[in-house]
Amino acid sequence: MVAVAIDGPAGAGKSTLARRLAKHKGFIYVDTGALYRAIGLKMLRNNISCDDLKAVEQLLATTELDIRFIDGEQVVMLDNENVNGLIRTPEVSMMASDCSALPAVRAFLLDMQRNLAKRNSVVMDGRDIGTVVLPNAKVKIFLTASPLARAKRRFNELVEKGIKAELEEVLKDIEQRDYNDSHRAIAPLKQAEDATLVDTTELDLEQSFNLLLKTVDTLAGE
Ligand code: C5P
Repeated sequence: MVAVAIDGPAGAGKSTLARRLAKHKGFIYVDTGALYRAIGLKMLRNNISCDDLKAVEQLLATTELDIRFIDGEQVVMLDNENVNGLIRTPEVSMMASDCSALPAVRAFLLDMQRNLAKRNSVVMDGRDIGTVVLPNAKVKIFLTASPLARAKRRFNELVEKGIKAELEEVLKDIEQRDYNDSHRAIAPLKQAEDATLVDTTELDLEQSFNLLLKTVDTLAGE
């Protein structure tokens, strides 16, 4: 099995590029952020705050989370419900970022991610894949872009999906999530020592993909 770990901040184009890379290589694509989002969704639905550790632990103990692949697309099943269409709102993004700082939440998701990579060749994206989840991954990429470039991309995505948004708000959210993700005590967002930096600030999608593919092939020795 081959593992390609792609980490980086919100809006760097990880999911779009990782999905395309996986298709190109014939690997499965695992979007680990969707798992944190599913937990965030359940916390919002149950009105549970991240400060209430007891309630979070109780919620996790009664949560069934599963990933399925339908036509190569990852489908997140939360308590037997397909939640793919519900986990991309700004509220869920922020809750996912907040709850991902909790050790109980990270531990809950760790084995699931590792097992997927044990059984399949994967392109897995997230924040701590190269540092914590798959420290022995053959290929590790740290994919990034400036906060403004990332905010513009995320804004366009939201508009395309018909979700109302303001660029300034999206930028503020991104900066807040960057701060949260890189300052938490456990599994913070940071480039693994042996990861290769790919910066897409000045690149469009096509150029970003070509650079990513070239970097991955070089690292994989192909
Ligand atoms: O990548 P995405 O924006 O969907 O991730 C949602 C949130 O989940 C992130 O802000 C981050 O806090 C958290 N996350 C994480 N570790 C991962 C993937 C996502 O902490 N491997």
